[in-house]
Amino acid sequence: MADSETFSFQAEISQLMSLIINTFYSNKEIFLRELISNSSDALDKVRYQSLTDPSVLDTEKDLFIRIIPDKNNNILSIRDTGIGMTKADLVNNLGTIAKSGTKSFMEALSAGADISMIGQFGVGFYSAYLVADKVQVITKHNDDEQYIWESAAGGSFTITRDTVNPSLGRGTEMRLFMKEDQLEYLDEKKIKEIVKKHSEFISYPIQLVVEKEVEKEVEDDEPEVAEEGGAKIEEVPDEEDTKEKKKKTVKETVIENEELNKTKPIWTRNPEDVKPEEYSEFYKALTNDWEDQLAVKHFSVEGQLEFRAILFVPKRAPFDMFETKKKRNNIKLYVRRVFIMDDCDELIPEWLGFIKGVVDSEDLPLNISREMLQQNKILKVIRKNLVKKCLEMFQEIAEDKEQFDKFYEAFGKNIKLGIHEDTQNRAKLADLLRYYSTKSGDEMTSFKDYITRMPEKQKNIYYITGESRAAVENSPFLEGFKKKGIEVLLMTDPIDEYATTQLKEYEDKKLVCITKEGAEIEEEEEEKKAREEEKKQYEGLLKTVKDILGEKVEKVTLSNILTDSPCVLTTGQFGWSANMERIMKAQALRDSSMSSYMASKKTLELNPNHPIIKALKTKADADSNDRTVKDLVTLLYETSLLTSGFSLDDPSSFATRINRMVSLGLSIDDDEQPAEEHAAESTETPAAEDAEVSKMEEVD
Ligand code: ADP
Ligand code: MG
Repeated sequence: MADSETFSFQAEISQLMSLIINTFYSNKEIFLRELISNSSDALDKVRYQSLTDPSVLDTEKDLFIRIIPDKNNNILSIRDTGIGMTKADLVNNLGTIAKSGTKSFMEALSAGADISMIGQFGVGFYSAYLVADKVQVITKHNDDEQYIWESAAGGSFTITRDTVNPSLGRGTEMRLFMKEDQLEYLDEKKIKEIVKKHSEFISYPIQLVVEKEVEKEVEDDEPEVAEEGGAKIEEVPDEEDTKEKKKKTVKETVIENEELNKTKPIWTRNPEDVKPEEYSEFYKALTNDWEDQLAVKHFSVEGQLEFRAILFVPKRAPFDMFETKKKRNNIKLYVRRVFIMDDCDELIPEWLGFIKGVVDSEDLPLNISREMLQQNKILKVIRKNLVKKCLEMFQEIAEDKEQFDKFYEAFGKNIKLGIHEDTQNRAKLADLLRYYSTKSGDEMTSFKDYITRMPEKQKNIYYITGESRAAVENSPFLEGFKKKGIEVLLMTDPIDEYATTQLKEYEDKKLVCITKEGAEIEEEEEEKKAREEEKKQYEGLLKTVKDILGEKVEKVTLSNILTDSPCVLTTGQFGWSANMERIMKAQALRDSSMSSYMASKKTLELNPNHPIIKALKTKADADSNDRTVKDLVTLLYETSLLTSGFSLDDPSSFATRINRMVSLGLSIDDDEQPAEEHAAESTETPAAEDAEVSKMEEVD
């Protein structure tokens, strides 16, 4: 065709198409679900437009999806009277613009995912190539002419002004030129079966064009007319009345549209009458999920406002749950059975972004606009109710430990995000939190269970945050708690930092981060006395150490949480923890002014019972200007940075110090060291520090 334009598929899409065409995969029938779902989306869009501008439907009043099998030409067509696509839409939506899902889907496939998951990744259209070797998309949008998009894969597609096909009025017809070995999908029975299985809950009529033989009585004026058109005529022996008008019954083939989905919306039914399988089927149809839901809640709210809803918790988190800017379309909003939109952010808070379902309001106006929705009071009440019902549903899940483990694994982050964001429901959400602890073994524990294990005199709930379970489990901060048998919760999710800061307490027990200053373990009177005594004795050393470290630390104190380590660095109660500092550095999302403001003010806590500290005290008491004391304190400080979960600002000078120690340990003379190393050190190490380092040689 003369005015055909050729376009190249975006590279990843091209790759995806080859994958779809070449991967051996038997469950190809899902292509129909994907195409019907696209048609349904397109119908939703035009219906939504028509609420404010009814004239958009002038081009075609009826909203439907029609499946037309053409066995003579091996073409399966799926036609809808949806919004259609302009030429620009065709270019952008069908091939030239990469979607994040394209790559994610291919990665998922190579990790063993199933092709039927395609819809969840937003590339369902390409499933047409499971069964067709060529696809045409004929489409008419109100704002443009009718176009034909065509591709037999191979890296490119064409777009042509349509001057050959009958006018669609409005909408889209997908024509699949079926592969030789996929002709079963032209079969009436097969199509009915697939639609029933995957698309039963589509809220527009799905028609199947079927050929039917009907019997018809005609007057028999001229006997023995063999054939008329395509209809077979048969003589039927009539009874007695041969004298009068002769009548004949003829069998005629007629073409009919048979509606395949006549079920009334499931949410309008009484929950008691809905079978569990029906919920699962509805869930799968709604979400394109291939697995059943984890939990479902079907309810209606009556009173000053009236609505019905079904909410689902999936078994898994979506691949892109925390992707920013992603539009969510998880909850479909209906007004008196008419679909309004599926991306209404006001309907459910962000932290519940994994909940799927439908809401059907009796009160909202049909022609509600997005802007109105943002202000709408009814919607606010609906939202509040949805959150409440979700919490009920989570509580129900929590009654079954196995189910809850799955839930928490998939959506624990969301619960923590909820704690951070939802002041009102914070306490209820806190019940759902689970953590490993120093006593929990392989199972996670709740705050509630933690409290039941608390010794009577323990007032606080203790926790430690860090990068991994292994890192926190071996932290020096745990020493004293372990010795006294006090349980500490191990928090290793970055979001725990945010959630605990907001939560602050649980059932009147303060949440105390043990890497922060002031996380004292409850002590007996005698212990307190002994500590006061120690404090006096160590006053001199504490002052010396503070003088040596200067601005590096805010304070130097004695610790009551250490048993095996000589010292640790705690942070201010209201500043960032070491772990938070690490997270912030990694994210680099704060400007530097913010980080210097929040960055942890560190307190060096010394363990008065540790031999190193004792020896240091003796040395410092003898001469507070002792050079070795200075060097050793710096080294102790730097190792504490590491064991306390901070990172080193200047790893190379630390390494130099350590190397000197190693040399000393091996009794290596300074002049035996390689010359290059000296050169390298002096470039990497600031001059002042270098001088300090060289004094280390005197240590013995
Ligand atoms: P998704 O449906 O998740 O957006 P698809 O790959 O199934 O991804 O479809 C890609 C896009 O192509 C759709 O978002 C839509 O813009 C367009 N599209 C597909 N089918 C139709 C149709 N029948 N009518 C109008 N637009 C369609
Ligand atoms: Mg789709």
